[in-house]
Formats: sequence, C-alpha cells, structure tokens
Amino acid sequence: MKVLLALLFLLATPLWAAPPDGNAPDWYYPQWLAEAPHTPVFRVRDTVNKYGRYASETKTVTIKDLIKFHGHFCGGLVEGATALKVAFDRLFPDGIIDRTDLVIASNNSACGGDVAVYLTGARARFGSHLIDPKLKESDFVVKRVSTGKSVRVVINAATYPHDVRTQMKKIESGTFEPADIDLFQDLQWAYAKKLVTRPAIESVDVTENPNYAWPEPPCQDMGRRRDNDYKDVPAARLK
Ligand SMILES: [Zn+2]
Repeated sequence: MKVLLALLFLLATPLWAAPPDGNAPDWYYPQWLAEAPHTPVFRVRDTVNKYGRYASETKTVTIKDLIKFHGHFCGGLVEGATALKVAFDRLFPDGIIDRTDLVIASNNSACGGDVAVYLTGARARFGSHLIDPKLKESDFVVKRVSTGKSVRVVINAATYPHDVRTQMKKIESGTFEPADIDLFQDLQWAYAKKLVTRPAIESVDVTENPNYAWPEPPCQDMGRRRDNDYKDVPAARLK
C-alpha cells in the first residue's frame, strides 16, 4: 500500500508542482490584456541575496505581477508600464533592466508610483524614488546611475486620456452617481486596450538627458541601502 501511495505521489507531483504560467489570465488579469500584442513584459536583473553578487539569471515581470503588487488592474498601471518600457529601452539597450542601478522621479499617484518602484527597484526610504508633484501622472524621469544617462517619458498628447481624467475629477469632486464608478472603469479599460494594441513608443514622448531639476528625497535620511553594495565582488578563488 505504501509503495502504491509513493508511486502515485511521484506520478502526480509534476502535474501540481509545475510552476504556473506567469502571464496566464486570472480573475484579476483579463484575458484581453494577457493576450494583447504589446502588453509590456520586462526582463530584470537583481542580486542573488543580501550582500550578494549580481544574479546570472534574469526574471520576467509582467503586468500580472504588477497587479499583484499594486492590488488592482487600472489604467494608471498600464500607462506607467507603457511609459517606462520606452525609458528602459533607451537606458538598457540589451533589454535587461538592472534594478540595482536606477533612480526615478514620479508624481505621487498611487498607481504610477507603484509601477515606478516595482520596475526600477527604487525606494523612497533610500532616496532613489523621488516624488515630484510637478510631474503629470504618466510622467517619469529615470536615471541609470552607473552611466549617468537619464530619460524623461510621458504619454503623448495624441494618446492622453482626457475622458479618463475628466471622469476622475468628477469622482474626486464628491459629486457623482454610483454609475460613474462603472463608467470610470470602462474608460480606463478602453484606454489600457489602446495602449497595449500598439508599440509603446507610439504612445510615449521621450527626451534623453532632459534638463530636469531632481527634487529632494521625500524621506529624512534613515540610513543608506546596503544590500546592493556587493554586486560586483569577484568570484571567490577555489581553494
Ligand atoms: Zn491603480
């Protein structure tokens, strides 16, 4: 009996232990978004552990991952990801985003700000995520620290979602009907669909090395980040 159970366990294991598809549709991740031709996907590189060197392997980050971090799917999430896709294309020509090497400025949008920190590895408490109220919601300035190169990206005028912003202001004014909440979701989704059905560059204005006055860090100095300081330590010699 025990042998039979062990055999069944071994046979079943590959089925239920297989990693789930990181881009598969789910109740919070619409099928149209998973399958759209230009839904942004990001390849990132990090360190292997605290005081670790660079990982030799990369990770894939999808909009689905961003939704899990942020809490919901919204137009701002897709908007931010689209704009930053263009920024990373300029900063990392090899297509691999180094999340130990970036500083970003965004406005204080709950949605765009979350996209900024997740994709860049920047953190407000370490002074690498800077908050600038003068930036629009889809407006980001990103700097690759090791090269000093920076880019500013923003959703272009032709793509700017006036209807979404108008509806947003209506809801935030406090004078709205319950149906306005549903209309807002419909407008956001239509905007997101527009963004993911064409290459990101068609929706984004980009400026390389912009003349930009970086704001002061939003938090007081509470100590610097140390966990990425050992990324370039050479391999130990074999004894
Ligand atoms: Zn959001």
